[in-house]
Amino acid sequence: MNYTLTPVKLIENWFSERYSDNLQLSFRVRDQLLSVKTDYQRIDIFDTYDFGKLLTIDGTVQMAENDEYIYHEMITMVPFYMAETTPKAALIIGGGDGGAALRLLDLGLERIVNVEIDNHVVELSKRFFPEVAKSFNSPKVELIIGDGIKYMKESKEKFDLMLIDSTDPVGPAEGLFDPAFYRDASRRLNKGGVIVTQSGSPYYQPFALSKAKEGIGSAFSGSMTYVAFIPTYPSGFWSFTMNPSRGRGMGEVKPGRYFNGDVLKGCFSLPEFVKKIID
Ligand code: SAM
Repeated sequence: MNYTLTPVKLIENWFSERYSDNLQLSFRVRDQLLSVKTDYQRIDIFDTYDFGKLLTIDGTVQMAENDEYIYHEMITMVPFYMAETTPKAALIIGGGDGGAALRLLDLGLERIVNVEIDNHVVELSKRFFPEVAKSFNSPKVELIIGDGIKYMKESKEKFDLMLIDSTDPVGPAEGLFDPAFYRDASRRLNKGGVIVTQSGSPYYQPFALSKAKEGIGSAFSGSMTYVAFIPTYPSGFWSFTMNPSRGRGMGEVKPGRYFNGDVLKGCFSLPEFVKKIID
């Protein structure tokens, strides 16, 4: 018998993020570009087929080239428009990829202090995501490598916007969800300003959402939660939690690629199961 030999590739490469013992999201990858263990966490970078380059920390997706705009617009544009005075100075805690600072520069902020604990996240983002991390080259952005919890306790500067763009509430980010951190933050926030934190997937991480609500709620007499669709994060459904603020009654908002005036109005409308987590 004659067999025609054609090359068959049986092994494919995948990166999977575990959501639970029984569920994971897998990205088919062309290559793993880097894996490094820093003093704080393990960082991996993959070249994926569907989402471009992907940054993961301790096995969890932080940023994908093709959908980073959704997370970064929602953590910057919603608080920008919900602030009661036009924000000029902002503080970012975490955010070592530079994406939040980039959107704040687009919104016209004059001063941005970015406190990131792990210098490797910044250096690797500059190397693998230069279009996002180029924000660190702006003279308006001051990058401080250090612990955001310590910075919040010790710094004296005040801000109109504070974005807690952190990893999940484990390891170095755990204290970023504590009431004590938000009490310190309340002394750094200008009147009419907004503080916001990413508060995880309501479906898979309800504890992150309730912790954020508790922390912000106790220091700012209440909290407001809003949601967004982010395909590379657990369940694709993500939450952010901020202090109560009414906005400044602006008519038109400048749309991004995900964010627009309808999203600003609609993102605070929560499904019943999410309301139950924060009630
Ligand atoms: N978009 C992301 C998400 O929700 O998946 C967050 C991305 S950003 C890369 C998260 C950053 O928070 C990491 O670079 C991490 O080093 C930083 N971080 C964690 N704990 C921190 C702390 N206590 N102070 C400052 N930065 C911290």
